[in-house]
Amino acid sequence: MEKAINILGRQNSLYNQFIAEIRDQQIQQDRLRFRRNLERVGEISAYEISKRLNYKLDEVKTPLGITDVPVLKDKLVLATILRAGLPLHQGLLNYFDKSENAFISAYRKYSKDASFSIRVEYLSAPILENKVVILSDPMLATGSSMVVAYKALLRKGLPKHTHIVTVIASREGIDYVRKHLDLKNISLWVGAVDDELTVKSYIVPGLGDAGDLAFGSKSDNTESETSEEITED
Ligand code: URA
Repeated sequence: MEKAINILGRQNSLYNQFIAEIRDQQIQQDRLRFRRNLERVGEISAYEISKRLNYKLDEVKTPLGITDVPVLKDKLVLATILRAGLPLHQGLLNYFDKSENAFISAYRKYSKDASFSIRVEYLSAPILENKVVILSDPMLATGSSMVVAYKALLRKGLPKHTHIVTVIASREGIDYVRKHLDLKNISLWVGAVDDELTVKSYIVPGLGDAGDLAFGSKSDNTESETSEEITED
């Protein structure tokens, strides 16, 4: 049976070199490098996931003859959660370049006591029925954004299989996903698993705020200026 939870950093490989740089507070000050490292992790994740997909033989004409090559048969949709997911998504898209794409805008709406709920505000996705979805977000902290995003995607049909890609996960986040999603049709791809969460649900040691490190800080959305109605296009 397919493994539902795959921790890519458990095996020694170049993958951990990129994770080390992504976590390093000195190196992560270089935003271009931070985004590119997330992209590189996305590229390696794409390659690992590709070993679990379905293939068909394609006849290829070279300048000297004809040969059969196994090529991707599955129809892929790459989905990500804005905005922190964008560089990881780009890495996946670099390899799965013929995929369709989906974007979900989800944010934490904080209350005065630091508790928060996840609001999905925007969904742009093709029909997902019978397709393979690769849903990415670099940080799996509480796991609630990922579960909410996955459930929002289901409005577009039930995928044949979903691969969830994340870079750093908390133990709690993995348990939450396990509890709230049926892992029969979902596989999880994680770089590293950390033990702790802060009171504001940041992963420790983690890497900090992935969205801010990739794109710069934003103003607080405790008092959201955005609509609470989900919009689609
Ligand atoms: N999102 C982040 O960017 N970092 C965390 O540690 C948790 C959620």
